[in-house]
Amino acid sequence: MKLKDLLETNIDQFGEYPFLYFKEKTFTNVQTKEYADELANGLKKLGVEKGDRVMVCMPNCPEVLIAYQGITRTGAIIVPVMFTLHPKELHYIVLNSGAKAVITSSYVLPNVEKSLEGLPVKPELIVADQPTNEKAKNIYDVMVQDDNLYYDDVQPEDTAVILYTSGTTGNPKGVILTHKNLYSNAENSAKHNETERGTTLGVLPLAHVYGLTVSNVLYLTGSSIVVFPNFDVKEVLNAIEKHKVKSFSGVPAMIYALVSYPEADHYDTSSLESIGSGSAPLPVALLYAFEKKFGAKVFEGYGLSEAAPVVTAHRKGIEIKPGSVGIPIPGVEVKIVDENGVEVPCGEVGELIVRGDNVTPGYYQNEEESRKVLKDGWLCTGDMARQDDDGYLYIVDRKKDLIIRGGFNLYPRDVEEIINGHEQVAEAAVVGIPDERMGEEMVACVVKKAGSELTEEELIRFCQDHLAKNKTPRRIVFLDSLPRNGVGKILKTHLRKTAADIVV
Ligand code: ATP
Repeated sequence: MKLKDLLETNIDQFGEYPFLYFKEKTFTNVQTKEYADELANGLKKLGVEKGDRVMVCMPNCPEVLIAYQGITRTGAIIVPVMFTLHPKELHYIVLNSGAKAVITSSYVLPNVEKSLEGLPVKPELIVADQPTNEKAKNIYDVMVQDDNLYYDDVQPEDTAVILYTSGTTGNPKGVILTHKNLYSNAENSAKHNETERGTTLGVLPLAHVYGLTVSNVLYLTGSSIVVFPNFDVKEVLNAIEKHKVKSFSGVPAMIYALVSYPEADHYDTSSLESIGSGSAPLPVALLYAFEKKFGAKVFEGYGLSEAAPVVTAHRKGIEIKPGSVGIPIPGVEVKIVDENGVEVPCGEVGELIVRGDNVTPGYYQNEEESRKVLKDGWLCTGDMARQDDDGYLYIVDRKKDLIIRGGFNLYPRDVEEIINGHEQVAEAAVVGIPDERMGEEMVACVVKKAGSELTEEELIRFCQDHLAKNKTPRRIVFLDSLPRNGVGKILKTHLRKTAADIVV
């Protein structure tokens, strides 16, 4: 039940098998474990103690996984951070977490250094490649062989990871995830999906909880991973062909990129049986397009950082219900409740709440926010959902994305599904903007497919043909692309501003 035990799970059986592939490099399970042990020793020599925070901030590479395992073996806490953050955002996280060391890359180092300006005590700087200045040490130089100094007294309830949310509603919050949270979620996800040993693709950022848990499942199943620094369609298709990949986890934006790539049929992707999709709503039209093009299933699932993260998922052997996020995974209980916390009748919409070993004990040094989301052992997700008679969940929308137009609650997702189904639309996101008369007005931000001459009037007419009158967006705003975060999630806060500026 501890993250550090993950490395030992299959080491006797699969020690000499490849654990990860990265560009031309291959690391076996034994090599990975040795590097992690040596890094744990080295970190300890640098003064990292049990409970200290160590930030890891770099694009996906083997050293991210080595760093995670090295840190966890000292009993210290991993703080995974997206390398794309602005120095100001990094500053907040370094300060809030009180990081004792930062493991990064020479590419990200200048931003990390900027983020440390003004800090009275600066963390140790370690880089995965060649350091660009004498203030940083190379990760392999930090490693110490022989004497295993690392701690062994980590308990399942101890904090393993602090994950900062994207902070769409104020400063980011540090979600505490214990060893038990992460271990149980990886174990139950593998059980649910009946994950078999094989080679998968590491296309999700390892700094995100979704990528982190996918990597934890690897250790449990003795699988291998092809790690990518970024999502490049050609590289991904090439790796599917080369490693005969049967399944991997991604996000809707990646599925869209694969579906729209015109030369996909130049690659042999016949090994691919399924792709997992999570972290954002998957338009139903995209699910069908992927199945048609690749002859592989799309298993949509749902989760959130506070639940380590997987709550529900589709899997082989059960009916796929397009638009649904599947059924709860083992060990995770769900309920749909009204604003008084009372369970609503089956099929009705309410807030989704979650209970299980995967649920966070709270936010780091933030009692007030913790109290808001944790009630009587249940995690309030802030997502509006419904559950059908067969136990399948449907995410209706985020509570905070709800549009209240003339007193009526409107869920953007319903409208997005319709617009995404238009043959000339590449993608769409619907937001509410302030309106004097109606309180809020609905605006659809739309990216057209290349070469399309679709007009606002035509798309509004299309919506009128498919939606109730009050659900038809008042305006359509055409954009070149939609703003997204590191896991490809559409940033609605940014879009609300853009839409409000354009629609005057
Ligand atoms: P913040 O909470 O600060 O905005 P975030 O969105 O990056 O940060 P995550 O934990 O990464 O936080 O995202 C969890 C949220 O993603 C869920 O609460 C839900 O709204 C959304 N989500 C995840 N999977 C799905 C899905 N399959 N369909 C719809 N929404 C999803």
